[in-house]
Amino acid sequence: MAQTTAGTAAPRIGEVLVTEDRLAERISELGAEISRDYEGRELLLVGILKGAVFFLSDLMRHLDVPCEVDFMAVASYGSSTDSSGVVRILKDLDVPIQGRHVLIVEDIVDSGLTLSYLLRTMRARDPASLDVCALLTKPDRLRSNVAIRYTGFEIPNRFVIGYGLDYGQRYRQLPYVAVLAD
Ligand code: 5GP
Repeated sequence: MAQTTAGTAAPRIGEVLVTEDRLAERISELGAEISRDYEGRELLLVGILKGAVFFLSDLMRHLDVPCEVDFMAVASYGSSTDSSGVVRILKDLDVPIQGRHVLIVEDIVDSGLTLSYLLRTMRARDPASLDVCALLTKPDRLRSNVAIRYTGFEIPNRFVIGYGLDYGQRYRQLPYVAVLAD
């Protein structure tokens, strides 16, 4: 990768896959759908740090059912682009979820192995219901039989950045989702 004179790597922002407008439009639709489905119930949104923070905070503003938010942070063993499904909890939930309606909010589901682990762990805590809302999925990569109730966008098998998604902790603040350029 070319270096600038300042010695910092040049931006690696490639093709934009989901524009800021499309994100806003789809998140508003998802919010309406979730609000309808959970009418009369109280929802606990569980965001998976760090990537889902942006999506979760925008989604939550479109929910008109009573809801609370909590976060979990996990580290997935594996290479930088492939998760192994062996997951370590770095930060657990602050509150018990027994008897609660829980919606896991994920930025992206790739192989689905991380999500599969999270679902197993949370199901064991006996919530009243447990579902998943993922902003992005890569159907070609899915290796795990996880049911994703709400999906923002299905994208091709490319490594993406922006709107919470990082490359080496950078690029999360981009207001759109783009491919990481070579
Ligand atoms: P999985 O266990 O589904 O294979 O991996 C899920 C995790 O891998 C995501 O939560 C995310 O942290 C990371 N990941 C997977 N695909 C991408 C991608 O295209 N871009 C970025 N930035 N992270 C990804």
